[in-house]
Amino acid sequence: MKNYIIHDEWKIIEEGFHAVENEITESLMSLGNGKIGQRGNFEEEYTGHTLQGNYLAGVWFPDKTRVGWWKNGYPDYFAKVINATNWIGINVWIGNEKLDLAKAKVLTFRRELDMQIGVLERQCTVEMPDGKIIGIRAQRFCSMANDELGVIKYGVTPLNFSGVLRFSVYLDADVKNKDSNLGDKFWEELSKSQNDTYGEIQIQTKKSPWATVPQFQVCSAMDFTVKLIGQDTNINFENENKEKYVETTFSHFVAENNQICIEKIAVNLSSENHEIKEFSKIAKMLLKDAKEKGFDQLKEDHKAAWASKWERNDIKIHGDIAAQQGIRFNIFHLQQTYTGQDSRLNIGPKGFTGEKYGGVTYWDTEAYCIPFYLSAADSSVARNLLIYRHNQLQKAIENATKLGFKDGAALYPMVTMNGEECHNEWEITFEEIHRNGAIAYAIYDYVNYTGDTAYLGQYGAEVLIAISRFWAQRVNWSESLQKYVMLGVTGPNEYENNVNNNWYTNYLAVWVLKYTKEVLSLVSADQLKEISKKTNFNAETETALWDKIIANMHFPYDEERQVFLQQDGFLDKELIAANSIMDQRPINQKWSWDRILRSCFIKQADVLQGIYFFEDDFDKATLKRNFDFYEPMTVHESSLSPCVHSILACKLNMTEKAYEMYVRTARLDIDDYNNDTEDGLHITSMAGTWMSMVKGFGGFRVKNGEVHLNPVLPANWSGISFRVGVKGVLIEVVIESEKVTVQNFSDKAISIHILNKPYLLPAKEKLSV
Ligand code: BGC
Repeated sequence: MKNYIIHDEWKIIEEGFHAVENEITESLMSLGNGKIGQRGNFEEEYTGHTLQGNYLAGVWFPDKTRVGWWKNGYPDYFAKVINATNWIGINVWIGNEKLDLAKAKVLTFRRELDMQIGVLERQCTVEMPDGKIIGIRAQRFCSMANDELGVIKYGVTPLNFSGVLRFSVYLDADVKNKDSNLGDKFWEELSKSQNDTYGEIQIQTKKSPWATVPQFQVCSAMDFTVKLIGQDTNINFENENKEKYVETTFSHFVAENNQICIEKIAVNLSSENHEIKEFSKIAKMLLKDAKEKGFDQLKEDHKAAWASKWERNDIKIHGDIAAQQGIRFNIFHLQQTYTGQDSRLNIGPKGFTGEKYGGVTYWDTEAYCIPFYLSAADSSVARNLLIYRHNQLQKAIENATKLGFKDGAALYPMVTMNGEECHNEWEITFEEIHRNGAIAYAIYDYVNYTGDTAYLGQYGAEVLIAISRFWAQRVNWSESLQKYVMLGVTGPNEYENNVNNNWYTNYLAVWVLKYTKEVLSLVSADQLKEISKKTNFNAETETALWDKIIANMHFPYDEERQVFLQQDGFLDKELIAANSIMDQRPINQKWSWDRILRSCFIKQADVLQGIYFFEDDFDKATLKRNFDFYEPMTVHESSLSPCVHSILACKLNMTEKAYEMYVRTARLDIDDYNNDTEDGLHITSMAGTWMSMVKGFGGFRVKNGEVHLNPVLPANWSGISFRVGVKGVLIEVVIESEKVTVQNFSDKAISIHILNKPYLLPAKEKLSV
């Protein structure tokens, strides 16, 4: 764990330069606006620990799969949202010395990300090897008002001398991914052009010899102005370039204590959104408009866009700054990653903050992110996320066919960009099949929340039939148990592989079969006919098999403890509490893999994930027994874990445990709990943090379109408040130790159950209980 980030309600602050932790800070201070994302790198050269990262939504490369031992069924490539043109670059020379914080003496340093306005700022004073001292003030944002713009204001002040400073303002597309499997670069140049302060590079992803996927074209362009003590000044600019690189250089005399300031604006366009032949024209137009507005106005527009996001989605916690900073940090990054207008896009586990997980789609979206977007955004956003999977149904069927399934059974990939499987560890690719169930669950979640039953006939039923067919073929009848069993799977707990009858997966499979039947009874006769024709579905024979599986599935259970068993044979393990090995955690960094597999330690909520999803199927005593059994063995080395435990602990009124788990999820990255923040932030688990506040402490649920609130507060919080939207009605919930107040901002009344008592809250009114 680290604790160098200063606690503040709205800001992430690094005071004093933490060079060793720089990659962690770069992740924490990442900026984005749904279309472009940028790690908190320095503008000028830095030869210390750094991971340069500039990403464009939906722009990816099929990196060649590299594994030790090839298994039939592995995909040929791993899709990666790749490092794209570095648009922030500004190099500085003081005399002949190039500024590099790894080589100079950093006298004072403060870097802060103001989450309220989405601006990253750095102020430092630096002594160069020859004793010259300069001050730097750099501000940067990825505009929320125009999501193709990045804006920088970079000022340098000589503090103990007067002299000539030289600058190079550049775009560098000659970049690579640190995690490139074969060490390859993924981009090739199409064109470049320069004129005075304007620079432009067009590049495209290389043609892949091993995958038939689209090539993406990207245009990055920049322009800038220079001011000396706030005034325009006469400058002679020189253009230089090399392959995939353009720069404009200039030198200027600057007197002691005067600031020279560069305002650099960059545009990033991709072929996903524009015709390539229009690139240059659009880039020039956007830059001209932006230059006319200038930094201050662009910043005002950006701030206004953030203000409306916060007005809708802020969560306030009274009495605990660390917890407040945590929740805002999570909401901030979620909003930067995915804005929900484009159904071709999804939410990578690291968003635009690092290379790990390749920026591609996991079950995280359905299990964690959709609940957030359902409450925090218009319902079209969650619908777009569902449509994304619907659009990939054919590929999921092909994926299952490749693995030996038939007749329209679908297995959605563990990891994907365009619907093709990209993951290549057999125990996950082939066995972590519970992801298929999460995709079905998300359809239920969406329809239950929004009441949009039309979705089922239009899109949902087709997906559910294909997933149900998969489960019906994946189980087999065990003569010895006289039950259906599911062999050779990996549950959410990836610290167990190739197990038989993972309780969570079996439960989810049966639930999907039941839910699909229910959905088929809800769609109209005409729709059913059409869907059956399209999917070649035989309701009679197929559902007869589903019924048998529903009635006869095996669920491992321990009669003595009365708990569900994570899988067959779980009790053969030595059952030890995770807090007895604190010095050896995280075990995924300190233990051999075989030792992890043999241990009882649980990476992430597994049985408890199932109880959380299907909470109405289990009474509190059952929840308590299972929680008390599994929580002590859970090491939470997946970011997706503590939020689920926090929500369940709230249900059990175990507020201390709920708080511990909340802090762990909310401050996971800020405090680097799992020693991996340098790889990027855990964006999808941030939606889990939101859930632990709203569903956990707020006790918020939507059942059949009605709101339920069963709040509990940790002892050190005097109150919390949050806003959620349900069926087009926006409400604010304020929870204090003795009082719950709900304000309805909309023109419609809404039914609310507070501590299980029903109330009708009329339009625009407030209710206190
Ligand atoms: C977790 C998975 C998750 C993935 C991406 C893994 O560490 O075990 O459940 O889907 O990370 O977040």
